[in-house]
Amino acid sequence: MTPTGQKKVQKTAEEVWENCLKIIKDNIPAQSFKTWFEPIRPVKLVKNVLTIQVPSQFFYEWLEEHYVKLLRKTIQRELGKDAQLEYQIIVDGSAATAQTVNYPAQNVAEHKNPEVLGPMFLGPEIKNPFVIPGLKKIQIDPQLNPSYTFDSFVEGDCNRLARSAGWAVAQKPGGTAFNPLVIHAGVGLGKTHLLHAIGNQVRQLFPEKTVLYVPSEKFTNQFIDNLKNNAVNDFIHFYQMIDVLLVDDIQFFAHKDRTQDIFFHIFNHLHQNGKQIVLSSDRAPRDLEGIEERLLSRFKMGLTTDLGVPDFETRMAILEKKMYADGIELPHEVVEFVAHNVSTNVRELEGALISLLAQASLNKKEIDLDTAKKIVKNFVKSVSREVSIEMIQKTVCDYFNVPQEKLREKTRKRHIVQARQLSMYLAKLYTKNSLKTIGKHFGGRDHSTVIHSCQAVRDLMDTDKDFRDAVAEIEKKIQLSLS
Ligand code: ADP
Ligand code: MG
Repeated sequence: MTPTGQKKVQKTAEEVWENCLKIIKDNIPAQSFKTWFEPIRPVKLVKNVLTIQVPSQFFYEWLEEHYVKLLRKTIQRELGKDAQLEYQIIVDGSAATAQTVNYPAQNVAEHKNPEVLGPMFLGPEIKNPFVIPGLKKIQIDPQLNPSYTFDSFVEGDCNRLARSAGWAVAQKPGGTAFNPLVIHAGVGLGKTHLLHAIGNQVRQLFPEKTVLYVPSEKFTNQFIDNLKNNAVNDFIHFYQMIDVLLVDDIQFFAHKDRTQDIFFHIFNHLHQNGKQIVLSSDRAPRDLEGIEERLLSRFKMGLTTDLGVPDFETRMAILEKKMYADGIELPHEVVEFVAHNVSTNVRELEGALISLLAQASLNKKEIDLDTAKKIVKNFVKSVSREVSIEMIQKTVCDYFNVPQEKLREKTRKRHIVQARQLSMYLAKLYTKNSLKTIGKHFGGRDHSTVIHSCQAVRDLMDTDKDFRDAVAEIEKKIQLSLS
């Protein structure tokens, strides 16, 4: 492939790719490497264009979305600044060349210029914002992820208040009592998503407003850089221009006194000028340690609200929304299984879904319940521990106050039938037993009775809220016993 006349011996695609893999391997978790990089094949290298083959469109999009920076860096290290990467996507078993991705795209410059405030500045003139006339005209990249919107943020009991407060703030930035709006929640429950949603919504409604999303660590690092360069004033002035400031994970301000001090001044300036501030934290302000009292009291001036762990219904809705957005379908029972078993937070829920999709994409076949069980088991610790049918029966019977032996008898009393059917349903969901084995534990009923019971439970859950709540309660007990 080496063009004639070129003296330098060119490496082969395999060599280049192998070197890239070595770097990539050191930079991402082993499981991700296995899933996303091992299936890739180097195809050819023409000058500085490396072509790699990926198993599907989904795979390609995933790489582009999640590993673009890493890929860019490694390819450039191997092939120089002008390196390009081209993908071949396998369509129905044959390779068709798809998108060419040219890595030295504009945003490569990121982090190159440590003395300015990082990638949020677009023009070089912004270094000293104070001397520039028409300050407001300066374009600031809001650092928003366009896919984190209100539309993609599924509403449920767990997040209703926070979501509507965020919505209200976005309709009238700085003009509500919710200033600052402080959103707190454990990891993976949607804080970052909601902050971006507010920012995106403001940008849509008020294009003239300057919006900025910044994680607190980034704020801290920028401050330190500017301190080193004697540019603290620039830093403060920059932040004072913002109309809607979204600061993520403020718990990381803890014990950073100078950063807190600067943030206090910026906060006051914005607040006094009717600018909107939205903060997120992994705990309520009252539980934040290492944050100065005067800042805490500022945080408490507006509205503090939390995001809870989504219930089963909301988890189903989130999964369905994500699948719809990705244009993918999974069998209902698989989705239900995932929603039942991955109940800690939304990030894990998404992770499980993505593993399933990756698997389906690689194997080019539909995911059935058994495959889903295997994959989800690797994913979440709680399901790797086995629940017994016995334990499920006991939990259900305790809940409904039904003697356990009645489950094995022929009684047709309504509440007993319900406890029996629900126990079968949960046994199917939470254990690896076959339908036949499950049937045996219920007085030797056959597998079709178990199937029928599972369907009956699903139908009842669809129509009867009390029953649904009862199931959720029982599942909580089962899950508690697992953790
Ligand atoms: P946090 O910042 O609280 O750790 P994130 O905002 O990063 O959590 O959320 C983790 C993932 O879960 C993101 O991909 C986000 O889009 C998704 N997510 C969280 N809550 C919801 C929700 N209510 N609806 C849809 N997706 C959600
Ligand atoms: Mg976050």
